[in-house]
Amino acid sequence: MAAGLSWLALFGTSSPELRVNFLDVGQGSAVFIEAPNRSQLLIDGGSGSKILARLGEVMPFYDKKIDVLLLTHPDQDHLAGFLEVIKNYQVSLVLETGIKSDSVLNQEWEKVLREKNIRISHVKAGDKLALDRQAIVTILYPLADVSGQEFKETNESSVVARLDYGQNSFLFTGDADKKVERGLIFNKLNIKADFLNVGHHGSKNSSDPEFVSAVNPLAAVIQVGKNNKYGQPHQETLDVLEGLGINILRNDLLGNINFVCDLKECFWAK
Ligand SMILES: [Zn+2]
Repeated sequence: MAAGLSWLALFGTSSPELRVNFLDVGQGSAVFIEAPNRSQLLIDGGSGSKILARLGEVMPFYDKKIDVLLLTHPDQDHLAGFLEVIKNYQVSLVLETGIKSDSVLNQEWEKVLREKNIRISHVKAGDKLALDRQAIVTILYPLADVSGQEFKETNESSVVARLDYGQNSFLFTGDADKKVERGLIFNKLNIKADFLNVGHHGSKNSSDPEFVSAVNPLAAVIQVGKNNKYGQPHQETLDVLEGLGINILRNDLLGNINFVCDLKECFWAK
């Protein structure tokens, strides 16, 4: 791995400001972002209480507030951890698609949000969240408001979002599958990014070569658990990424994957 990451050594160490932490939550996804003004966003919460320990590694112990939670879709490995987060942290705003889900987990989630009277916003393409004047999150998918709609394949409803900070950009894809990827390309959305959060834990149902080429990242992060029962990341996806010369960073091999960025560049902070 180290050899493939020599580019990181080229990055300067001038006053780092934005932090993006791809948390090792086992099989699931969770990304913690802190802007220079200290406003915080957590994209997905992984599958259970692991998220609390991981947040404890990237947040000071006295900080019990996370401004915004963004739920890409209500699958267990993204949502279950949010129930732990919301019981242990003060949250101001939840961004989600609001798709219909009758799972026990989702019912519990909606109940807790109601009880705590947390503001909810249903997101769609074009919505923007300014964490800071220069740290801007833009929703790229779903293309339209899908709140209340039922999806047989919830991955087809997954939020895709980009984060721009100065000259740096990150693309977060949740569990978006190839159908979503084609929709993003067809609608000419701005998916070019320096860092790609690989869709659906490196499943072969995501990461179409055409999509990955269009993103054209320096590095791709795969949020995946060790020895998971799905066999993710799939070899097909690794082949696509390697074939395009993209550095691969995996939570199952590296633990938390932390980036620190100034306005010009990002570096990998161990
Ligand atoms: Zn997932």
